[in-house]
Amino acid sequence: MKRKTIAVIGGGVAGLSAAWRLAQSGRATVTVFDSGGLPARAGAATWASAGMICARLEMSDAPPALAAFALSARAAWPAFAAEIERAGGISTGYAECGALVVRGDHAPGEGVVALDGAGARVLEPGLSADITRAFWAGDEARADPRWLALALRRAAQQAGVQVVTETRVNRIAESGGKVTGVVTGEGVVAFDHVVLAAGAWSGGLLKVSNLPGPPIRPVKGQVMSLTGDPRAIPVRRIVWAEGAYIAPHSDGRIVIGATQEEAGFDMTLDEAALDRLRAHAVRAVPSLAALKVAERTCGFRPATGDGLPALGGLGPEGLTLASGQFRNGILFAPLIADAAALHALEGLLPSLARPFAAGRFAEAA
Ligand SMILES: Cc1cc2nc3c(=O)[nH]c(=O)nc-3n(C[C@H](O)[C@H](O)[C@H](O)COP(=O)(O)OP(=O)(O)OC[C@H]3O[C@@H](n4cnc5c(N)ncnc54)[C@H](O)[C@@H]3O)c2cc1C
Repeated sequence: MKRKTIAVIGGGVAGLSAAWRLAQSGRATVTVFDSGGLPARAGAATWASAGMICARLEMSDAPPALAAFALSARAAWPAFAAEIERAGGISTGYAECGALVVRGDHAPGEGVVALDGAGARVLEPGLSADITRAFWAGDEARADPRWLALALRRAAQQAGVQVVTETRVNRIAESGGKVTGVVTGEGVVAFDHVVLAAGAWSGGLLKVSNLPGPPIRPVKGQVMSLTGDPRAIPVRRIVWAEGAYIAPHSDGRIVIGATQEEAGFDMTLDEAALDRLRAHAVRAVPSLAALKVAERTCGFRPATGDGLPALGGLGPEGLTLASGQFRNGILFAPLIADAAALHALEGLLPSLARPFAAGRFAEAA
């Protein structure tokens, strides 16, 4: 059988993992294009992300279809991480660390246990003595999104994916209702199929290509990271504090986040907002005050109008969308990859992904 030629636009977690799955199928020759030097484009969500895999806490108000998708994605993570690590030879930083909620506004849900302050400090001795109650979500996990991106890139390349960096796709080419390739600075490059995984930039790319699609917008998140001695990290579990979350990683980097702003693609950092995040984190775990600030940055979460992912086809034949993951693109990665690959190869979405079919935006488009 002739292999399909497939272009994947975007080398974040969505594009790299979809490309990897497509190459593994043996049915496609896959090229990933990214306008940045992978995996470190400024503003890319994967690079800025905290890497929390929180299928319980993040979904406390979610519609049932999204909560089911999240739980299934969470269940897929151990095997997903192990497979990437085997194939890529690089750790993803995946760890089943659990998460403690020490802020007042969080209602306990399924899989979440209420604790008093002493019980919380048994799990996380660095918590402030002022904390008198907490919720423990023992199933939550984390991956280091930066190591994940590196490992995925290598796994994809080992499977035969060609990764083309510093190359912006200016337009998706279409003729007679069918996608014919991508247009870069070098001209048209012909492909049988295109997977659009350009994160928050996906909506703009559809627009300049004169293709219908959901209005995917950037939701800016500012974050900071602290670094310390990995052998003496003052916090080992994810902590959701009043006004900030704390996501420690095994190499000693501790991500503190995050703002959530409708600010377009504005990369300006608000030092006062970042200082507030740090102050909230220090209030919950006082010894964080001693750690050095390693980085202040921001990223753009890809969000659709209804806050749900946009997957599969819309508009011309030969186009697959893999976007709209909003706050949970790391958590969702194993299922987004499978959904994008199945759609690109067979024109179908797996049943769990069908509620997020991009076709729901057909009328709006
Ligand atoms: C501050 C912050 C914290 C987060 N924390 C978490 C978390 O704890 N857990 C979680 O699950 N999710 C989290 N998220 C959300 C998660 O990071 C995103 O949902 C996910 O990374 C989206 O991945 P992506 O590959 O679609 O997009 P991106 O990572 O943004 O990748 C898109 C890529 O497309 C490329 N691109 C764009 N336009 C073009 C073009 N025209 N041509 C070529 N390439 C192009 C970009 O350079 C970029 O590399 C967080 C997000 C932010 C911003």
